Amino acid sequence: MLTPPGLTAARFQQALERLRRVVGNDWVFTSDADLDTYRDAYSPFWGEAQERRASAAVAPLDVDQVQAVVRIANEFKLPIYPISTGKNLGYGGSAPNLSGSVIVDLKRMNRILEVDATRGFALVEPGVSYFDLYNHLQQRKIKLWIDCPEPGWGSVMGNALDRGVGYTGQAYRDHFGAHCGMEVVLPSGELMRTGMGALPGAKTWQDYRYGFGPYVDGLFSQGNFGIVTKMGIHLMPEPESMVAGVVEAAQYHDIEPLVAVLNRLENSGLCDGMPQISSPALGGLGDPPNPEITRVIGTPGGPKPADLARIAQGKPFWHVRVLSYGPKEVAQAKWAYAKREFRKAVPDCRIVEEVAYDIPLTPEKEEALSPYRLELDRKVNFGIPNLGIFAMGARSPAFPKPSDGHMWFSAVVPRSGAGVMEAQNLFCRAIAEAGVYIGFNAPIPLGYSPHLFLMIFPVFLSKSDPVMNRKGRELLMHLIDLGAKSGYGEYRAAPALQDFIMDRYSFNKHAYRTFCEQLKDAVDPNGILAAGRYGIWPKQLRKARRS
Ligand SMILES: Cc1cc2nc3c(=O)[nH]c(=O)nc-3n(C[C@H](O)[C@H](O)[C@H](O)COP(=O)(O)OP(=O)(O)OC[C@H]3O[C@@H](n4cnc5c(N)ncnc54)[C@H](O)[C@@H]3O)c2cc1C
Repeated sequence: MLTPPGLTAARFQQALERLRRVVGNDWVFTSDADLDTYRDAYSPFWGEAQERRASAAVAPLDVDQVQAVVRIANEFKLPIYPISTGKNLGYGGSAPNLSGSVIVDLKRMNRILEVDATRGFALVEPGVSYFDLYNHLQQRKIKLWIDCPEPGWGSVMGNALDRGVGYTGQAYRDHFGAHCGMEVVLPSGELMRTGMGALPGAKTWQDYRYGFGPYVDGLFSQGNFGIVTKMGIHLMPEPESMVAGVVEAAQYHDIEPLVAVLNRLENSGLCDGMPQISSPALGGLGDPPNPEITRVIGTPGGPKPADLARIAQGKPFWHVRVLSYGPKEVAQAKWAYAKREFRKAVPDCRIVEEVAYDIPLTPEKEEALSPYRLELDRKVNFGIPNLGIFAMGARSPAFPKPSDGHMWFSAVVPRSGAGVMEAQNLFCRAIAEAGVYIGFNAPIPLGYSPHLFLMIFPVFLSKSDPVMNRKGRELLMHLIDLGAKSGYGEYRAAPALQDFIMDRYSFNKHAYRTFCEQLKDAVDPNGILAAGRYGIWPKQLRKARRS
């Protein structure tokens, strides 16, 4: 059992005793077996000294108990780290940034407090999972959709607070962007409501997110300024249909007109589903690693036409999946318009697949949906939570030695064809030089928002091979550094990389981080809450962490 930094073992025991008095003996966890469940199963330091481990966990039942836990933490200067469902695999799991922290596990607070079918929102507690909210809506026949990430076992709140992403309508895929109103236990133990919630008895807490005065909700996303105990989330009206198709383009440089059309469609509201870009020629997850493809795309100055033709082996370079929701005649009209525009921009493009679904789906149609990956009929495109994505990285002929986990590389790149090619060229060159398989031969853009692409790919990890993990970490740090020097930053990262990344958000002598840390010192003078999350350290620990 670890002892939290700054506390003696005896003082720690006293703190635990006080926590037990608040939540009951059964809800303070200290055994190795219990604490194993709070390890980051995808830790890039698995089994090494640098692995981030909790010293204990406490599971409060309600807001009063959360406030009491925070007050005890202040009294003992006990570092605490809140999680909602703690399923943040690839971005840190349920482990804290600071080893020895006590996890404040909010899973027991799992009530759906309100759903308004007319105004389209839910008000939830931290432990409400996507499955919970989905089942709640289904059982009551409420015609609203959730928007879930690939794994449906995570929480609506934790995912939004880490700025997670989903796959249905445009206004709902940015989960933090779709939240509306919070209740927060501040590091002092005080309770605050944001937005209209600051008005006692407000009638529009989940309708108008800004309230009056500065908008502070952002501090609680990827931040360490409070424990969120309630959150509103906007929900999409169930559409009458989903109509989608795949546009195929043969040439690598076709990505420029393809993205230009896609952007115009999305920004005009004429394609409101999650577009997906993949590349049969470059391959994707599950395809055999081909270092030659990575090397060609990373050719200094850009890939040469003859090399591109050779690696393509007759396969097309791009598939763009375009999805629209709405009344059938409207969704079909949107798709018809999209086809016309793609054909104008890339005359030799082909439409290789078209689907139309009436919603609600029949049980047979729902059963036949694809659990994951780049199909038009993925469950998440219909707001249906599932865990099919965990087939990713499973044993297959192309992948005979499955990994034990992965870390995501998640750079934000400009949403243009030129932006995609420039980023692919830069990152492929570095990946080819490092000789580490990244799960794709070339990173492919993910367009969850109409204004940017995320270049997301996994770097695989092992529970028994520290050398593989070290190489993976080194590659990621190299890519992050290289990206930063070329103007690309990450949207989200695992704790193992957060300091490294925050160090690169350094405009004007780190003015942004300095401002965040001034706020941290003001609202959390004892530095108890989620120290180090996203590179924000309290003053007591700053020097040690940065030197
Ligand atoms: C194969 C695979 C695919 C994935 N696909 C996606 C995807 O499509 N989209 C996506 O977004 N993610 C994806 N993920 C990442 C991750 O699984 C999800 O984002 C997951 O929902 C996050 O876990 P959670 O909801 O339990 O959040 P938690 O782990 O509970 O929370 C995340 C972090 O937020 C903070 N936090 C949580 N609750 C609170 C609170 N109440 N107050 C203050 N701070 C809090 C904590 O720092 C916590 O560590 C994927 C992961 C894997 C392995």
